Amino acid sequence: MDAIETLLCPADRDGIARAAALLRQGEIIALPTETVYGIAADARNGSAVAKIFKAKGRPQDNPLIVHIDDVKMLPGLVSEFPERAQLLAAAFWPGPLTIIMPRGPQVADECCAGLDTVGIRMPSHPVVRQVIEASGCAFAAPSANLSGRPSPTTAQDVLADMQGRLPLILDGGSCAVGVESTVVSVVGEKPTLLRPGYITLEDLERALGEEVILSGAILEKLAEGEVARSPGMKYKHYAPKADITILEGSFEQFKAYVEAHAGQDPACLCFTGEAEKLGVPCVEYGREGDGADQSRHIFRCLRALDEQGDRVVYARCPRKDGVSMAVYNRLIRAAAFRVIRL
Ligand code: AMP
Ligand code: MG
Repeated sequence: MDAIETLLCPADRDGIARAAALLRQGEIIALPTETVYGIAADARNGSAVAKIFKAKGRPQDNPLIVHIDDVKMLPGLVSEFPERAQLLAAAFWPGPLTIIMPRGPQVADECCAGLDTVGIRMPSHPVVRQVIEASGCAFAAPSANLSGRPSPTTAQDVLADMQGRLPLILDGGSCAVGVESTVVSVVGEKPTLLRPGYITLEDLERALGEEVILSGAILEKLAEGEVARSPGMKYKHYAPKADITILEGSFEQFKAYVEAHAGQDPACLCFTGEAEKLGVPCVEYGREGDGADQSRHIFRCLRALDEQGDRVVYARCPRKDGVSMAVYNRLIRAAAFRVIRL
């Protein structure tokens, strides 16, 4: 790829104006959202969207989420705004929820990977909202990492992956949520959770007043030959250099297992306050049982482990419900689905 000069600049008025101008010219830029940093391109411009796939090395059949700052932008992007989508939008937009709806004619083919649906999100982060407003563009934006790497939650993490691959990164500090948006589909017979996030299964059910189906592959590996309902689910994700295994059990069981495997010179991915008790190199990813705290830190911690080089890592197991479901979902992918029950 031809090297492009990458400018890292504060997400102030000047930075936002530059980002908006680049988007209007069909360029790609990186920017902070409340979930993770994203790479944005005008969703109506196929050749601009194609640059995202090239910069990330993303497989063509993995669709992108389109970001809006007002439901007035929906006509043209969707062919229908289903009643369930309206309920969810009223409850959670702006916020970290993507709704899969029937696709409209203005969305570039490149966003949808051959599907007749499109994922739409209205983010709450002031920087994204200002960029959408200033550019007038609904934009496609996946996470701003190289495909397969942990999602970036700081501008420095974006720079580490994207230097020379895009012209501008807006620095807006650390992301408050830290994991990608919850993805829910309202196109099937029943509403279906395709990717867990900060907005939980229970939150969705409360807003809809009905059961939401939990898609396969959220809490375990997609079975051989099973069709991915959400294309992103089939890819190896968040693969750090470290060789991670999740150990499910109490802290005492975890500590005993790590001690029994001291010969591997392991590091640990553990909860806040546990590092000093383990006596091996540790990265703490948040308070035990606190899914929101763990979400905010998990990707930075996976990158921090990578910075230590390739080594054996044992990880404490998060809960599988509430916001923690999102953390567990990302961590099993980082661990290539290796979970040992102690
Ligand atoms: P990312 O852009 O990395 O946050 O990933 C977006 C994910 O949203 C994709 O990997 C898909 O799993 C999901 N997604 C986006 N659009 C659709 C769609 N039209 N149908 C089903 N899933 C989608
Ligand atoms: Mg991603």
